[in-house]
Amino acid sequence: MSIDPRTVILLAGIMGGLMSVVLFFMRRNYPPTIRGLGEWAAALALIFLSTLLLGARDAISDLFSVVAGNMLLLAGLALFHVGSQRFFGQPPSTRAWAGLILAALPVMVWYTSVEPHYGIRVLLMSLLMILLTAAHARTIVRHGIRSLATFLCVAALLVQTGAQAVRFFSAFGTTPDSSLFILSPTQTYFVTTYAFCMLLLSIGVVLMATDKLRAEFEHLASHDSLTGALTRRALIDACEQELERFRRKGRAMSLLMVDLDHFKTINDTYGHLAGDHVLTDFCARVSTLLRRPDRFGRFGGEEFVVLLPETSPEEALIVAERIRAELASPKEQPCCTVSIGVATSRTDDATIDAVLARADAAMYRAKAGGRNRVEAVMPEQ
Ligand code: GH3
Ligand code: MG
Ligand code: MG
Repeated sequence: MSIDPRTVILLAGIMGGLMSVVLFFMRRNYPPTIRGLGEWAAALALIFLSTLLLGARDAISDLFSVVAGNMLLLAGLALFHVGSQRFFGQPPSTRAWAGLILAALPVMVWYTSVEPHYGIRVLLMSLLMILLTAAHARTIVRHGIRSLATFLCVAALLVQTGAQAVRFFSAFGTTPDSSLFILSPTQTYFVTTYAFCMLLLSIGVVLMATDKLRAEFEHLASHDSLTGALTRRALIDACEQELERFRRKGRAMSLLMVDLDHFKTINDTYGHLAGDHVLTDFCARVSTLLRRPDRFGRFGGEEFVVLLPETSPEEALIVAERIRAELASPKEQPCCTVSIGVATSRTDDATIDAVLARADAAMYRAKAGGRNRVEAVMPEQ
């Protein structure tokens, strides 16, 4: 193995620097809801600078190379962690890390300039790096979703933690004048592991950010922006899947067509904004009454559909009545009642439109019957 650790460190630094540019551009172009990109980009820039300083050992003073290089490396790793905390919407532990790094600074200066001792410096650096990478891995494990991106980040951080742990214990046997750039297999192993881990971690966070962006787009496409209910398209897709399941398994699904009563009067009396508030309040109240597999969507203006999988007409009636009663008990002004039409799938339903049409007809009967009531289409009808 004749890889020069200095070359590896510099190459890793350059790759990290390029990834930093990628992340800076992502920060500019991605929506502000994807947080942490700026911190990750800045972290990689710091790590890049640190590798330049560490790589320039012997060419510049030790105070710059060893002390500043290592401090920048620690600051970069800490900022990387802070970026992940912000990405997951967690409170960042910036102050704690800054305190720890500042406390390490005089120790580093002492064992570099006053009483140079490579072994003690390695002990300190590896210990701090273990803390930083392990805490970072913990944050991602706790808050990351199960995905390749999360796996890459956690694997990179844990391998780095393990490598630093080995380095920590191996530092006990070093002499004061050893150096990172002595061409030993152990040094080459540490430096190469570090280079690969940093690269994998950068790729991992880029993938995590794109995963999140895709999830946000999918959510925007399938959810109504005012009420958070499913869009008409997404709801019909869910209904079609449920109808298909009914055909295969024979367990009927039911639909509730829910329309707010005299909603136009609310708009006319209190204004459109108050009307919007009634709609969001209505959706929040209905959501608390539904089971996990149930789906709730906005079909049009003030018309909503509830999909109840594996639900008989009798059970659907109970749910509909619960919703009607909840809305009939006013919480705050303005509020309004609802009329609900209930329909259940039949074996002769060619498409979901047939079930929706029956629910719609039942809802109009509820309106005609005086509103604030539930009408159902029973199977024999
Ligand atoms: P009915 O009891 O017969 O259902 O009477 P209605 O007034 O509820 O029904 P109509 O269809 O006459 O009026 C529905 C109103 O809902 C008209 C429309 O301006 C209002 N609307 C639709 N979408 C929104 C929205 O997003 N926000 C607000 N504030 N109003 C909306
Ligand atoms: Mg209405
Ligand atoms: Mg309507």
